[in-house]
Amino acid sequence: MADLPQRQTDIGPPHYMQFLPPVAQKNYGQWKYHEQLSGGSMVHVAESGDKLWTVRAASPRLISTDFIRGLTALADKYCGGHLRFTTRHNVEFLVSDESNLKPLMDELKQKNYMVGGIGDGISNIVHTQGWVHCHSAATDASGLVKVLMDEFADYFTGTKTLPARVRFAVACCTNMCGAVHCSDIAVVGIHRKPPAIIHEDVKKACEVPSTISSCPTGAISPDPANKSVKIKADKCMYCGNCYSVCPAMPISDPDNDGVAIVAGGKIGSLRSNPKFSKLVIPYLPNNTPKWPEVVAAFRTILTAYENGARKHERLGEWIDRVGWEKFFSLTGLPFTHQHIDDFTIARETYRTSAAFKW
Ligand code: SF4
Ligand code: SF4
Repeated sequence: MADLPQRQTDIGPPHYMQFLPPVAQKNYGQWKYHEQLSGGSMVHVAESGDKLWTVRAASPRLISTDFIRGLTALADKYCGGHLRFTTRHNVEFLVSDESNLKPLMDELKQKNYMVGGIGDGISNIVHTQGWVHCHSAATDASGLVKVLMDEFADYFTGTKTLPARVRFAVACCTNMCGAVHCSDIAVVGIHRKPPAIIHEDVKKACEVPSTISSCPTGAISPDPANKSVKIKADKCMYCGNCYSVCPAMPISDPDNDGVAIVAGGKIGSLRSNPKFSKLVIPYLPNNTPKWPEVVAAFRTILTAYENGARKHERLGEWIDRVGWEKFFSLTGLPFTHQHIDDFTIARETYRTSAAFKW
């Protein structure tokens, strides 16, 4: 690594190049193609003829020290310690010696790691903190991901395939720390009531001007009588922004919180531009611990996609081809007033073309 430019700082991570397997350092930028070998393995082939095998497995994202120790022991045994996490929290073992490929996959399966996530199926579900950690969660993340992975495990392991890859995501509030806006099918936690205001605590814990300016819709105004703030309920969109600034305005509400389902997003620019996902189900309850309504909704959308899409067509591309009107009739999902964008600046997103398609 001596010839690499050295960073002029003592903060931040060390240069990533030193963590790549030697074969990846040697062939950096010189890879010719890659090929999927099974639901959980693939091989990259370099211009030089060198090969690097990848074995992918699922992770629960919020992981324990024991889980990490288990992964690193396997990486030390089979891949010279080379292991990485993808942006969707899949674990990838980078194997330079082909003779280690099968023993690694066998040991992963024997230790009950779920091997898969490559190709036309689902990969690990990217998700957020949920009730485990975050103050503004409207739903749990880990619980939802667990029930969805249990239900759709066959599409992860490669036992069943789909027309193209399908990315699931879960975000536990509309801050959307998860990749909900750009995933094929996703869950987003929603609040449905304005925050409570605990006037006594506002006085002690919050700064009124910054609390007022935290509201994107201008729903908060001063309440001089209480030395606090008040909310104009019909301007509130339940985003929870004010709660992040003022802890005396809690928004979590077990009776009204729940989730919405969005679909049709993607990051990749293959065949069509990246797309934002759109609302398909405005509200489902937090029916813990199994969220049966959410699992059923995913099954409905996935089945309609599986039956209707062409090979290699992403879910959003299929919807664009058949039309959103047809999507609602094919899935049987009701179209409601919540699907109509009436936000103040909605005009920007309206379809203004004179070309109609039914
Ligand atoms: Fe917290 Fe919302 Fe991010 Fe979930 S999506 S971790 S609730 S800010
Ligand atoms: Fe404003 Fe959002 Fe707070 Fe409602 S929840 S008052 S829209 S910041």
